[in-house]
Amino acid sequence: MARYTGAACKLCRREGQKLFLKGERCYTKKCALERRAYAPGQHGQGRKKVSEYGKQLRTKQFAKRYYGVLEGQFRHYFERAEKMSGVTGENLLSILESRLDNVAYRLGFGTSRAQARQMVLHGHVTVNGKKVNIPSYLVKPGQVIGLSEKARGLGQVKAILESTASRPTPKWLDLNKQAMEAKVTAMATREDIDLPIEETLIVELYSK
Ligand code: SF4
Repeated sequence: MARYTGAACKLCRREGQKLFLKGERCYTKKCALERRAYAPGQHGQGRKKVSEYGKQLRTKQFAKRYYGVLEGQFRHYFERAEKMSGVTGENLLSILESRLDNVAYRLGFGTSRAQARQMVLHGHVTVNGKKVNIPSYLVKPGQVIGLSEKARGLGQVKAILESTASRPTPKWLDLNKQAMEAKVTAMATREDIDLPIEETLIVELYSK
């Protein structure tokens, strides 16, 4: 399945919740969901009744789009989560949260996950001091995630860091703001993840 290249705001309107795909704009009154809080398309305002399957599907789509992951990879994460000990849905979210592009976003290296992904792809993000340009790289406890020397000197990167400076850092990432690097102290648990979904619906969907 190809990556979605249409209007990002349509995805939020389809899910009925903010996916925060457009950085700063998402926190302002310009957010499309603030102005048109209904699904896009001709029947967007008419669709009301949602079946159980519909709820499961929308929940899965929401999580996929929130983290910017395609179907195949999402399914792969689910299968990995199933093999881990503990609750499958929570394991799935923990895996998604540990993607390097998400960690870069959580640390304020991007105003959106898409921008954080670009930062990784351009080689601006380091793991234990070494450049890693794979957005799907899964970070592990003990590793240190930071910005490359070159990135720290770029005006555009400085502007990003300034605009995300007030964003709270999750407690599983021990951020040193001066050094612009953070130690991963643990895997994210469900209570660390501010995702407004019932992940059990995804488990039910994939368990059919
Ligand atoms: Fe979604 Fe952001 Fe667009 Fe609002 S501005 S609809 S949160 S992508």
